[in-house]
Amino acid sequence: RGDSAVADRRIDSVCPYCGVGCQLTYHIKDDAILHVSGRDGPSNHNRLCVKGRFGFDYPRHPARLTTPLIRKPGVPKGLDPAFDPADPTSHFREASWDEALDLAARGLVDLKAAHGPDALAGFGSAKCSNEEAWLFQKLVRTGFGSNHVDHCTRLCHASSVAALMECIGSGAVTASFMQALEADVVILTGCNPAVNHPVAATFFKQAAKQGTRIIIIDPRGQALGAYAHQTLRFTPGADVALLNAMLNVIVTEDLVDHDYVDAHTEGFATLAEHVRELTPEAMAPSCGVSPEAIRQVAREYATAERAMIFWGMGISQHVHGTDNARCLISLALACGHTGRPGTGLHPLRGQNNVQGASDAGLIPMVLPDYQPVGDAQVRAAFEELWATPLEERPGLTVVEIMDAIAAGTIKGMYILGENPAMSDPDLEHARASLASLEHLVVQDLFVTETAQFADVILPASAWPEKDGSVTNTNRQVQLGRRAVPLPGEARPDWWIIQELARRFGLAWDYGHPREVFAEMTRGMASLDHISWERLEREQSVTYPCPADDAPGADVVFSDAFPTATGRAKFSPTLPLPPDEPVDGDYPTVLTTGRQLEHWHTGSMTRRARVLDDLEPEAVASLAPGELRRLRLAPGEPVTITTRRGQITLRTRVDPAMAEGMVFVPFCYAEAAANVLTNPALDPYGKIPEFKYAACRLAPAPVE
Ligand code: SF4
Repeated sequence: RGDSAVADRRIDSVCPYCGVGCQLTYHIKDDAILHVSGRDGPSNHNRLCVKGRFGFDYPRHPARLTTPLIRKPGVPKGLDPAFDPADPTSHFREASWDEALDLAARGLVDLKAAHGPDALAGFGSAKCSNEEAWLFQKLVRTGFGSNHVDHCTRLCHASSVAALMECIGSGAVTASFMQALEADVVILTGCNPAVNHPVAATFFKQAAKQGTRIIIIDPRGQALGAYAHQTLRFTPGADVALLNAMLNVIVTEDLVDHDYVDAHTEGFATLAEHVRELTPEAMAPSCGVSPEAIRQVAREYATAERAMIFWGMGISQHVHGTDNARCLISLALACGHTGRPGTGLHPLRGQNNVQGASDAGLIPMVLPDYQPVGDAQVRAAFEELWATPLEERPGLTVVEIMDAIAAGTIKGMYILGENPAMSDPDLEHARASLASLEHLVVQDLFVTETAQFADVILPASAWPEKDGSVTNTNRQVQLGRRAVPLPGEARPDWWIIQELARRFGLAWDYGHPREVFAEMTRGMASLDHISWERLEREQSVTYPCPADDAPGADVVFSDAFPTATGRAKFSPTLPLPPDEPVDGDYPTVLTTGRQLEHWHTGSMTRRARVLDDLEPEAVASLAPGELRRLRLAPGEPVTITTRRGQITLRTRVDPAMAEGMVFVPFCYAEAAANVLTNPALDPYGKIPEFKYAACRLAPAPVE
């Protein structure tokens, strides 16, 4: 790029988008980012995808919030089609920081005084740094006085974490995705890395070129299919049946690694008995694949010397998401495929800091490092660290909080960087809940859909405008650095959280995120031997890390698992149908997700010029046969209806789609996919079934 020659500064940082955690450099002139280049980070080796490379101009979008806002008297809360986020003065008035912070805090403090700590809740964000996540959950726990704090992990990998914690005692990956290069076999299931983890996908492609056998197990086809040795495209929602059938093959054909099972696990005999009747022949009809294909994949995985399993939200976002992950863990344990190079379990994390935000305690049932809030010893340690008594009852999760608002028990909320008015299932319900809050404080970069329900809006900091650490899907802790100044009156998020905490009477006095990180290292054993200075020096340190001068562990649990017995546990599961199976009235499966160019609710990428130019409009992806059945040409509009709502959007032909399915991205407010989705929850991870809702399709009138 020629403009690198005219840059007057270069600042090293990390990509603000997905969980791959690519290291990058901002090239800056006159305090504006000219362009971005990749650095030689451990997870990207100079590579960047289109989002990392071109999605850097959103902080300067004309609609950027630059001053605190307070709702004008009498303006109703909710989405008003006439509202212009670039000129919010129709609905909000500008305010000084002192006035906005005083009002924001007073509303919450008064509700707590009148109704008790259970009247308040907070949503933090995986878009924020580790330090901001730590401060946010600390404010809710020590200021609000409850554990009603959650974030978007509840909408992505909460069920994976629930299964991993139960079975192996740790919610993070057991090996990095770079280990795919060491594997003989890699299973990719319920994930679409070329779209959602694009630079990780380059490692899978490289592995395939080196001879690794790639097996894709998914209802949909995908770009990585061209690199796969085998693809099992099964009936949506039949994951547990399919994976149990694979376990049956491994048990009945005695492909089990008995030495590993005897040395490192417990409960295998129960699992073996459990899957005995779940044969490929018995399961195949519900899976839509042949028994022989199931046998072949099971044999290939089990007999490999080194094999890994990667999964995404196609596994986790089901009412049986935890069961899906339990099955994957059982496969790895039965075959001894953890704890060695080229082996492991890897839930590909979605947002850039969903791993770190979860580690830092933005979860209602656990304190930092996944330590249960109900454990008196754990609580005592944090009560000493924070000099405040803590609530022992677990808090409510994202969807439960929306229900509690509807029921009138939660009356005030503080939302940082999340956009539940777009990201929650059954949006009409979620939006009605937000509108009914007595007091809502939103801290964000723009007047998002959620901010349109707020009483007070606090202008936050974009990623290139602040210092902070993030933890990627590989457990690599990395530093983002302030590259450009904050616009107008916008402030760093840690500063805003601290100002609210002070108005709750908390004596916080942090001067920089490095001081917050230092406090985190005192409460989180996972950060042992990782300091801010070390991160500045080394750019990336993987946890767990055994010494100040030793590298972190890329592959973990070689000797023992972090469970009470040191052994991993098999957790048998039974096939369950989706919550809302297709039927005569709603015969098509709706599934939702991301696009390559857009990220989550689109609040950043839809304000990045190149990305929005590439994908400017919501589309429904359908198989060619499905379009023919509807008598629609690609580009003609379709109306999608579920039991909860209806949207109309243009069609796109996608040969990777299965017949009987439609895919809709969830980042477009004008055709919000989550108006349609089912809020039914997985009972363990409390994650909604975004990947399966029954819908019907009909041609819509052409405009
Ligand atoms: Fe950013 Fe993820 Fe793309 Fe890397 S792969 S550049 S982290 S969005």
